[in-house]
Amino acid sequence: MSEAKLREEICYVGKSLFDRGLTFGSAGNISVRVAGGWLMTPTNSCLGRLDPATLSKVDERGQLISGDQATKEYFLHLSMYAQRPRAGAIVHLHSTHSVAVSVLADLDPEQPIPPITAYYVMKIGQLALVPYYAPGDVALAEAVREVAGRHHAVLLANHGPVVAGKDLETAVYATEELEETAKLYLMLRGEKTRLLTAEQVRQLQQKHPS
Ligand SMILES: [Zn+2]
Repeated sequence: MSEAKLREEICYVGKSLFDRGLTFGSAGNISVRVAGGWLMTPTNSCLGRLDPATLSKVDERGQLISGDQATKEYFLHLSMYAQRPRAGAIVHLHSTHSVAVSVLADLDPEQPIPPITAYYVMKIGQLALVPYYAPGDVALAEAVREVAGRHHAVLLANHGPVVAGKDLETAVYATEELEETAKLYLMLRGEKTRLLTAEQVRQLQQKHPS
C-alpha cells in the first residue's frame, strides 16, 4: 500500500474508533510502518479529526522527519516494533472496558483475561499485563520491551492496551476483539463460567498462530 493510501487509512480508522466511542478526547494513538520509519498520530490530536497531510513521520529513534510532533507515547510503539520486526502497525487506546480490567487487583500477569471465546484466542492469543508506570516514564518503555517479543498484545495496568499486527487492519481488529472480550469478562465476573479448555486453546493456537 502506498504511503498516501496508508495516511488515509490511519485517518479513516481513527475516525471510526472515535465515532464508536473506543477513543475520546486526544487519547489513543496509531502507528504504521513505512519506508524509512513510521507514520504516527500527532501529540494532542483527536483520532476523530486527523489530517493525512499533518500525520507525524518519525525515524527509528523517534526523531521527527515531517508533519506535526508525534504522540508523546511514541516510545511505546518503538519498544514494541523493536521486539517485533514483522509488525506493520500498532494501535494503543484508553478504551473503557480494557482499562477497567487493567485496574482489577490480583490479575494474572501472564493471562489477565482468560480464554472466553475462540476469536479472542485467535486474534489476541496471550495478553500480557505490564505493571503501572506514569505515562512518559522510560521504565514503561522498558517494561513493554521485556514482554513484546512473546506477546503482540499487552495491557498496561491502569492505562490501556497496546496491540501490534502485521498491518493496520489486523491491529485494529485485534484491539476491537480485546475491548469486546474485556467487556464480556467484566459482565461475567461473579457468574459461574465455562472457559475454553487448555486443549481447545492449544488446538486454536496451532491452527491460527497469532
Ligand atoms: Zn496511553
